[in-house]
This record gives sequence, C-alpha cells and structure tokens, in this order.
Amino acid sequence: RAKAQERGTVCAFEPAMSEAARGRLTLERDLSAALAAEQIAVHYQPLVESRTGRIIGVEALARWEHPERGFVPPTTFIPLAEEVGLIVPLGAWVLRRACRDAAAWPDHLTVAVNASVVQVRQKSFAESVLAILAETAFPATRLEIEITESTLLEESETTMQNLHRLREAGVRFALDDFGTGYSSLSYLRRFPFDKIKIDRSFMRDAEASTDALAIIRAVAGLGTSLGITTLVEGIETERQFQLARAEGLKQVQGYLFSKPIPSARIAELVAA
Ligand code: C2E
Ligand code: MG
Ligand code: MG
Ligand code: MG
Repeated sequence: RAKAQERGTVCAFEPAMSEAARGRLTLERDLSAALAAEQIAVHYQPLVESRTGRIIGVEALARWEHPERGFVPPTTFIPLAEEVGLIVPLGAWVLRRACRDAAAWPDHLTVAVNASVVQVRQKSFAESVLAILAETAFPATRLEIEITESTLLEESETTMQNLHRLREAGVRFALDDFGTGYSSLSYLRRFPFDKIKIDRSFMRDAEASTDALAIIRAVAGLGTSLGITTLVEGIETERQFQLARAEGLKQVQGYLFSKPIPSARIAELVAA
C-alpha cells in the first residue's frame, strides 16, 4: 500500500515538475547564449540630488529581450544567473558596458552597478572590477557598487578583502533595498557602505502608513549620524519627492524623474 501511494505521489507530481525544470533549463541555456551573443542590454536610471533636483548619477540595470518570450525581467533572470554561476560573466558584462557608455556622459556623473553577493564572494571579484576599470579608462571614484541582498553577505575573508581593496582604489559601495531581505543595521557596522538605498516599498507606503514614514525618517537620521548618504527609491509622484526632501533624504530615484532608459537618452537628458 505504501508503495502504491508512493507511486501515486510520484505520478501526480512528475509531469508538472519536469515541465518547470525543462522551462528553467531552456531559460538557462538561452541566457547563456544571450550573454555570448551580447543580447543583454543595459539601461540607466538617473539618481537625483534632492536639494537641487539635479541628476548626479545613474544606475545601470540589465535588460534581456528574449527572441521568443519577449522582455524577461531581471527579477527572473538574475536569481537564475546566480544559481547557475552565470552572474559572474553577466556582472562583468554589465560593468564593462556601463563604463564604456559613461564615456559619452559628463564627468561628474557617477555610475552605480548592481553586484550580487555571489560575485562579491568570488576570489577574483576585486581584480576583475579593477581590470574592467583599467581597460575602459573609467575612474574608480565614479563607480558605485550596489550590493543586492539576495543572499546573506558574509564576513568572510574573501568578501572583506574584495570590499577593502576596491574601496582603497576609490570605489564606493551602496547597500541596496535597505529594510528588506537580509540587510540589517549590523551590516552598517561590519561593512564599509557609503550609501543606503531605502527600498521602494517604504516610499510606496509612506503616504498611507505612518510606520513606513517613521522608518524613512529614522534611516535618514541614521545616515546623518553615521555620515552615510541616504537615497530613497521608487519616487513616482511630486508629493513623494517633497516628502523625501522634507525627511532629509539626500538623493532620490524613481519614475517621476525617469524610468530606466538607453544610454543615448541619458546623454540627452543630462544635456537638457
Ligand atoms: P534594484 O537594484 O533595486 O533596482 C531598482 C529597480 O526598481 C529597477 O527594477 C527599477 O526599474 C525599479 N524602479 C525604479 N524606480 C521605480 C519607481 O518609481 N517605481 C517602480 N515601481 N519601480 C521603480 P528592475 O530594472 O526590474 O531591476 C530589478 C532588480 O534586478 C534590481 O533592483 C536589482 O536587484 C536586479 N538587477 C538588475 N540589473 C542587475 C545587474 O546587472 N546585476 C545584478 N546583480 N542585479 C541586477
Ligand atoms: Mg540597485
Ligand atoms: Mg534597489
Ligand atoms: Mg529594489
């Protein structure tokens, strides 16, 4: 009886599971091919100084237009790339593209590139970043690395060496999506972050929820006390922008200013 039940279970689940597995496998193969064929594009979203409303930098965001599936969001392909090890070449590709594109923009613009914890843990991470900076003649002081918290950032020797080596070269670090996932206050003590990016869910809720607003306010205060720049993501309305300014956030980012756009349009936007 147990055996029959077991078999029944296996039969019930097998088709669905293998279909999902097949879909993933196809996507994984396609991502690897897309990377080889340089079909991953990079778009840029402005980072704005709250006080002046000026664009002071951009964030590079990977874009994948799949020939059959259409636009695949990074929230789908980044975790996949992390799982199968493709995040290392993908991350290098995005960084190289961003450093090259930045050559057409004014010198004062900083470029923020997302890095997964999986990359930061690699022995070769700092070296690979420095090699790309040298190859593209992009100054380290204009680069900001946003650490995205999909997995725990470990205080391992390799991770710490990577962060410190890059920081000594002049690269800055931002703690992305602060307030969600693994990112915690203890990170601010253990790792050399220059900026905190408050997750956009807090801004989304700030007008309706006094708690969300209180958290934004507290993080702004924390930034001031620790000497860390604070930015809030997901500004979609003028009212939210005013709120962010009133709460003392140094920088803002969101659809109100611009969605992520191709490199050439950044050049136009900053020229205007
Ligand atoms: P993130 O680093 O927090 O990037 C900000 C995300 O919020 C982007 O989504 C951006 O399009 C979106 N966003 C910006 N302003 C607004 C707004 O006002 N409203 C709303 N609703 N959304 C806004 P995107 O491009 O889909 O990227 C999602 C995430 O994927 C990124 O979140 C980042 O964690 C990851 N990602 C994207 N590109 C890369 C990459 O090259 N490497 C790594 N490791 N991760 C990446
Ligand atoms: Mg980011
Ligand atoms: Mg973010
Ligand atoms: Mg985010």
